Amino acid sequence: MRKIAAHWQIIIALVASVIFATLLKQFGDAGWVATFLKICDLLGDLFMQALKMIIVPLVVSSIIAGLAGMAGFDGFKRMGLKTLAFYGITTLSAVVLGLVIVNVMQPGLVDGQPNAELRQVFDNSGEQLSDEDKARFEEGQQEKAKDWTSIFKRMFPPNIIKAGAESQLLGLLVFSLLFGIAMTQFPAKQMQPMRDFFQALNDVMIKITQWIMVFAPVGIFGMMVVTIHQNGAAVFQELGPYFVTVLIALGLHLFVILPILLKVIGKINPLDHFRAMKTALLTAFSTASSSATLPITMRCVQENAGVSKQTASFTLPLGATVNMDGTALYECIAVMFVAQVMGMQMDFAAQMLIVISALLTSIGVAGVPSASMVAILIIMNNCGIPGANNAIYALFIVDRLLDMTRTAVNVFGDSCAAVVIAKSEGEQLYQNDKKAF
Ligand code: ASP
Repeated sequence: MRKIAAHWQIIIALVASVIFATLLKQFGDAGWVATFLKICDLLGDLFMQALKMIIVPLVVSSIIAGLAGMAGFDGFKRMGLKTLAFYGITTLSAVVLGLVIVNVMQPGLVDGQPNAELRQVFDNSGEQLSDEDKARFEEGQQEKAKDWTSIFKRMFPPNIIKAGAESQLLGLLVFSLLFGIAMTQFPAKQMQPMRDFFQALNDVMIKITQWIMVFAPVGIFGMMVVTIHQNGAAVFQELGPYFVTVLIALGLHLFVILPILLKVIGKINPLDHFRAMKTALLTAFSTASSSATLPITMRCVQENAGVSKQTASFTLPLGATVNMDGTALYECIAVMFVAQVMGMQMDFAAQMLIVISALLTSIGVAGVPSASMVAILIIMNNCGIPGANNAIYALFIVDRLLDMTRTAVNVFGDSCAAVVIAKSEGEQLYQNDKKAF
């Protein structure tokens, strides 16, 4: 029997989950519905946790194996500068795009005046959130709502084992980079066992990723049924213009800005790249987590696009940690939207403060669902926007679909950097007939 391609399997799972979740609603609170949802939840959790399980060894081994294969420190420095420059350009263009769209569409205003109905939605939103969700949100907030300097502190975790245990990618990344670079400073023969070890570890992790992906349609189906079933909140309707604004801006970044950059800077055909990345994009969309998607992104970039291990293992973990175009764009729109609803005038200086805050905080946002909510709250408080706490609840309730979309944009942005840098290093791309997924 012919095997259905992985991306089709995921698409079928997504469609089936929408149908099932809609049907389930017809049965209300019947006892078996709760059991079915529990099983779906379990399947979704198993899939997500399996992906997360391999992130730490995968990131560490691929960075170290990749760097150890690089010709000394100069190659690393060149690639590092190029990657950071590309990430800087794409994130800045995303933020500016978000700002332009939100100023043009003004989703928080009606006939030029603050939308009073939305203000009421904000005021009541705390009541719509279950106690459990509130506690979850507040816990995350306390933990991360420190100021932006914490991003820099996280680069050097005092305990690397603890950083691994907490999947603190930024700290692991810096440690692995230092480790790999240090290896290049010794005679090749002396480091050979270490190089072989990390290479072998990386190969094993890739094999496990393949196995986990067999389970992807089932896991995604389970996760999506639960998500769709839970997200019936009434505030959806009222926030319609906001949804449209965010989706238009994300769509423009994904389908216009990034393809133009691919074409102009990398001389790459964007269609080839979309084709190579389709399974990673669908996984990012389904899981709303760029960290959990990282193993799939790495495989798609290496095996479908043809990027070398060195380039992919440097650019992608770095991107999954610090480069979030969709998130930066979203933060900007969310803050401006709340300011509009609350009737706060944002002059040029205030908007520039948002741009800078969105750039900085998007670096520190973790690649997990709804992580940017905390960053949005920090920016709103910095800008002195009234009623920020209530507004954030409203945004949190309707976050999932927007989160899924911005995560796909985040992942695509990282992959664009990988292929553009690979091209500039003279690598041959998109010539592999045997695709990974
Ligand atoms: N869910 C996003 C990601 O994983 C982060 C966010 O914007 O909340 O990339």
